Amino acid sequence: MCFQCGTCTAGCPSGRRTSYRVRKLMRLAQLGQKDEIVNSEELWECSTCYTCVERCPRAVPIVDVIVALRNIAVSEGHIYDNHKKTAQNLYRIGHTVPVKSDITELRKSLGLPDNPPTVLSNKKALEEVDIILKAAGFDKIVG
Ligand code: SF4
Ligand code: SF4
Repeated sequence: MCFQCGTCTAGCPSGRRTSYRVRKLMRLAQLGQKDEIVNSEELWECSTCYTCVERCPRAVPIVDVIVALRNIAVSEGHIYDNHKKTAQNLYRIGHTVPVKSDITELRKSLGLPDNPPTVLSNKKALEEVDIILKAAGFDKIVG
């Protein structure tokens, strides 16, 4: 579907400050250049803001393509340490971002419990998250 018009790249906020060119990524995918894609830092520079998807004249599901490419990359072991740590948080506490101590203090000052009423304060929910992640094979990828 992509005819390489460049509209996606022209509106991409991530490309304004980096070498990231989403049009190039779409072209590499069209050409089946898997090795180049999975080894590329640019694959991780999209913030999934969807500006390109809104503007693409060919209705290319660009973000879906990027997510699919990232899934391929990770399944083949191409994952950055920081991404892995973030994913491990999900496994460990059920959230990708832990509650910071200053937030805990603020909650206490407002008379709230240390943790919000999410999986963080629900052991059974965390066990269920664990079951889902294992069923998806997530533990093997980020373990
Ligand atoms: S993905 Fe869409 S906007 Fe981007 S180059 Fe291809 S046709 Fe143009
Ligand atoms: S979704 Fe990604 S590629 Fe598309 S405009 Fe936003 S940052 Fe750029």
